[in-house]
Amino acid sequence: MKLIFATNNAHKIEEIRSILGDRMEILTLKEAGIDQDIPEPFDTLEENAVNKSKVIYNLTGMDCFSEDTGLEVEALDGAPGVKSARYAGDGRSSSDNIQKLLTNLEGCKNRNARFRTVISLFINGKDWLFEGICPGRILQETAGNSGFGYDPVFIPEGASRSFAQMDMSEKNLYSHRRIATEKLVGFLNELSANH
Ligand code: IMP
Repeated sequence: MKLIFATNNAHKIEEIRSILGDRMEILTLKEAGIDQDIPEPFDTLEENAVNKSKVIYNLTGMDCFSEDTGLEVEALDGAPGVKSARYAGDGRSSSDNIQKLLTNLEGCKNRNARFRTVISLFINGKDWLFEGICPGRILQETAGNSGFGYDPVFIPEGASRSFAQMDMSEKNLYSHRRIATEKLVGFLNELSANH
């Protein structure tokens, strides 16, 4: 089965390919000949994910999926959440976002947080959603250089190192994106078994 993964984020493509192995062929937007960034203007991960898939499905007529992920911090009432990419402002870097997060949590004992991924799948114009949650906590300072985004300040529950101190296969043991992707794969397996 061939699916377009509607993202230009190289880290996400690498992670999803490492999760899927040879179970499914993934085409990136570039490989599908699409040279545009799809905006994420909505207030929920679900709406952004569906919008991205819909744009690509309408453009190509090909089956596709997209994902949107947010870091939800308990002491910040779920922020940065859907605004995780732009937490420190439009066009700011991941380290700016991390700095703002650590500043907002200064002196705060409750470091509970979770990553939440929503995958939107479009097949033959019908759509489905899959969710993956990874609970954990926010460190007092950054640790590690691997991964991307908020990885240097996030320790998943059950681990003693940050995502940025893990290689990809270790991150995949815990990852929100892996959990949502496994649900997607399970669904696609059932779909093909019934046809
Ligand atoms: P988006 O899903 O591309 O909108 O990502 C939202 C924000 O969360 C961006 O700042 C990403 O860098 C960050 N992010 C998404 N997934 C992860 C992850 O697995 N680890 C750390 N940060 C992530």
